[in-house]
Amino acid sequence: MGTAQLRNYIPFEVSGSEYLFHGLSGNIVQLDHLSREFVRYAEQNGTRSGDTVELDVDEYLAQVGADAAPRHRQMLAELSRLEILDLAETELKRFTATPPVPASTEGLPVKTLVFHLANACNLRCTYCYAGDGEYGAPQKYMSIETAERAIRFLLENSFDEKSVTIVLFGGEPFLNWKVLKHIVEHAVEEAKRWGKTVTFSLTTNGTLMTEEQMVFLHKYKIGTSVSMDGTKAAHDRNRPMAGGQGSYDRTSQNVAKLLETHTTAPIGTRVTVAKGFEKLETSLEHLLAKGFYEVGFAPVTESNMELALGDDDLAELLRQFRQLAELYVEAAVNNEYLGFSNLTNLLKELHTGTNKAYGCGAGLGFFAVSPDGGLYLCHRFNENEQFKLGDIYFGLHRRRQQEVLAELHVDRKESCTFCALKHICSGGCYYEAMERQGDYRRPNAHYCSWMHDWITLGLQTYVKILEKNPAFLDRISGIGKEGCMSN
Ligand code: SF4
Ligand code: SF4
Repeated sequence: MGTAQLRNYIPFEVSGSEYLFHGLSGNIVQLDHLSREFVRYAEQNGTRSGDTVELDVDEYLAQVGADAAPRHRQMLAELSRLEILDLAETELKRFTATPPVPASTEGLPVKTLVFHLANACNLRCTYCYAGDGEYGAPQKYMSIETAERAIRFLLENSFDEKSVTIVLFGGEPFLNWKVLKHIVEHAVEEAKRWGKTVTFSLTTNGTLMTEEQMVFLHKYKIGTSVSMDGTKAAHDRNRPMAGGQGSYDRTSQNVAKLLETHTTAPIGTRVTVAKGFEKLETSLEHLLAKGFYEVGFAPVTESNMELALGDDDLAELLRQFRQLAELYVEAAVNNEYLGFSNLTNLLKELHTGTNKAYGCGAGLGFFAVSPDGGLYLCHRFNENEQFKLGDIYFGLHRRRQQEVLAELHVDRKESCTFCALKHICSGGCYYEAMERQGDYRRPNAHYCSWMHDWITLGLQTYVKILEKNPAFLDRISGIGKEGCMSN
């Protein structure tokens, strides 16, 4: 049989049983004693590159002995059929091929547009990547004319897609309420004319909403995410108002009213995890007790390294994620939902078998529009000329889009080739890579090992829930996500 590669896999254990996750196909297999023996042999005797091991199969078969060899040969054939084992003579291509760079971007639909309603904010969060919401440019507000044109751009460029998404974003979008309201009303009317539907989501710091605005969010079923960092002490430490006082009390009062008023779409919250972070279970409990549907934790993206998480902080983050995962399983087994959205998103990916060639949808079907109509790779690249991909007046620069997609494809990231997370992480966030690796095209090598630990935790959680309440996994898998929407 010659040389073979056991490719892109992570071994893991749950309650004494051994499993193997094959990252290219998304298969999770429980190992029987033969395959266990083989994986052990491969790990001890093979040559490793990332999560891939190359070994001589003939040598393996010789050492199991002539009697056992036929059974082992059968097991190897089965692993090869599943494309987990790449035998020199097999063509790996049915389940495990990576989607290619789109042959042409001309017909690629735009599905989601993030509207930067205001490059301005009334808070002064210590970790803000957007320079107090202004994105390094003078403050700007989107006009009604630009907003209407952007809606038209989205509907036109969504081609045959029946549904589009508008993300209402800033800085702080409520600083431009008149236009926010107009976008929603106008987009609903226009979408109808085009025979399409439009869904909305909104990210806000929650300090400015009035009751009238909350009723509006309710009426239009606007999925809302309020940025909060946990308890008052944790929140006020990093999220002061422009005048210096903490923003917790205002956000909190508004959230209470919002949750009472707006019941037509889920309302979640996002915690930015910076150095010295509060115990996650405390933050989670505190925020769920307010009535939020779920809580997501996002490590700070920070050029100011004082707030960025170091290795010890990341290890602590993982340890606390592990504790939350235990609570999550306990709830899931009882058919209850613990709103820890990081884990939900991961379980969904494992359940539906994601095969991504890109870290996220940015530049594929997901773009951001600046207050004056520029189109950018995503909201984090707003106002950054290097990542401007056209504008709403003359359209997307399709050739540039094609070049960017070719540059960002996971097959261009050498270290990802042999990684088990090639089709899940796919090199990760381009903005993070720019900040931490100095080049948006590079893989996010600073977090590979953390990602492996996190995915392994997800796999263990997945198997535990699968064994006790598989229907739970079907239920949560209805939730979708195209680009990250952290602000
Ligand atoms: S960046 Fe992601 S896909 Fe690439 S090697 Fe690291 S963990 Fe794997
Ligand atoms: S993951 Fe990174 S590149 Fe993708 S949408 Fe989010 S910030 Fe932008």
